[in-house]
Amino acid sequence: MFEFNDSEKAEELAERAEALMEEVVIPKERELEGGTTVSAGTISELQAKAKEYGVYAPQIDEEYGGMGYDFNDCLPTFEQAGRSLLGPPAMRVDAPDEGNMHLLELHGTELQKEEYLRPLVEGEIHSGFSMTEPMQGAGSDPKMIQTTAEKDGDEWVINGHKWWTSNGIRADVLLVLARTDPDGHPYDSCTVFVVPAEADGVEIVRNVPHLGSEMTGTGHAEIKYDDVRVSEENVLGEVGEGFTHVQERLGPARLTHCMRFSGMAERALTITRSYLEEREAFGSKIADKQNARFEIARREAEVNAARSLVRHTADKIAAGEQARIGVSMSKVYAAQATQDAIDTALQYLGGNGIGKDLPVSDFYEAIRPFRIVDGADEVHLRTVAREAFDEHTDPDELDPITRFGE
Ligand SMILES: Cc1cc2nc3c(=O)[nH]c(=O)nc-3n(C[C@H](O)[C@H](O)[C@H](O)COP(=O)(O)OP(=O)(O)OC[C@H]3O[C@@H](n4cnc5c(N)ncnc54)[C@H](O)[C@@H]3O)c2cc1C
Repeated sequence: MFEFNDSEKAEELAERAEALMEEVVIPKERELEGGTTVSAGTISELQAKAKEYGVYAPQIDEEYGGMGYDFNDCLPTFEQAGRSLLGPPAMRVDAPDEGNMHLLELHGTELQKEEYLRPLVEGEIHSGFSMTEPMQGAGSDPKMIQTTAEKDGDEWVINGHKWWTSNGIRADVLLVLARTDPDGHPYDSCTVFVVPAEADGVEIVRNVPHLGSEMTGTGHAEIKYDDVRVSEENVLGEVGEGFTHVQERLGPARLTHCMRFSGMAERALTITRSYLEEREAFGSKIADKQNARFEIARREAEVNAARSLVRHTADKIAAGEQARIGVSMSKVYAAQATQDAIDTALQYLGGNGIGKDLPVSDFYEAIRPFRIVDGADEVHLRTVAREAFDEHTDPDELDPITRFGE
């Protein structure tokens, strides 16, 4: 991979992650038939190995069973994990649990941390994050949220209909965004609740059929919340601060998605380069044909540009600076760059790209949803465009000479 100026600590962690990937995770992936779902037992075995290699849950504080690494120092390890679909669950850096653990660590009460964060970090339970709703509800525009939570004595009563809750079919706990004040602006009147999946009134309707590999068995559930009663202790963070907390979860989680997917794109390109160096057509190695070389080189450049942008934005987050625009730019650019790289890899592998002997067709299925998940391209472009246009159209902030573009 392209060399960056990552810290020594980050490089050491990533070297151990690479060893785990090469010696344990990728050999295990090769044993499995592509497209099949691995058992929970296999994931537990990989997690035990990750602990042995010293790369298990590096992003979580030691107090809760992790390794206490900074966000930036975890970055190259997240990339390494992304090189196989089995890497993220092995190192416990897998979505959506990784983002949910982050939110519980930031805002969970001691009780919530004991009951949910610890077992999540240990890989004993799973979690879902329930924000998106069917038609007329929260989607690209989360202000359209319909799910409500009303106070009744010292309990909250949740009613709503969600879908696309990743992990929902196997979650033990669900983080649910609901409107708690019907009169306020949605951004100031929503709250996140920690809801046990076994609570009365939680109905897992189905796993929504979808494009994308189900190798790790996450699934994406449609869920109804019908008069679900939870106590005040189940509020995560502050009442009315739900959207702020959601952003605290989604900002870093969008970047960690980019990191994992750039690792995936990099591995797809590596597999393809090896294939082209061996495979001949029309009298020479395909690796010697200029079009193939340029196409692979272009994708390498784009993936590494995405990795640079993600590092720049991660630095801002680590410094506690405003990173909204950087996150949107990273998400939209990395999603396209990694999708294009994996598409190119698949094309140059010929039939092997479509077949499931190699992991690239699973990667292809996994990458396409990324341009929609965690905010569709257009939603992030809207954020970037508003910033860009505001700078040039707000007359009060511009020098009179440049105001009209003269
Ligand atoms: C695999 C997968 C996993 C997911 N996991 C979760 C999860 O765990 N939890 C959760 O809550 N949600 C999850 N989601 C939902 C995901 O976040 C939403 O699908 C996404 O935010 C888009 O919302 P929507 O599907 O309602 O699309 P819509 O809001 O209906 O938008 C449709 C399309 O319209 C376009 N569009 C939207 N706004 C604009 C605009 N301003 N200008 C121009 N075009 C625009 C975009 O192309 C967009 O894709 C998941 C989705 C998928 C596919």
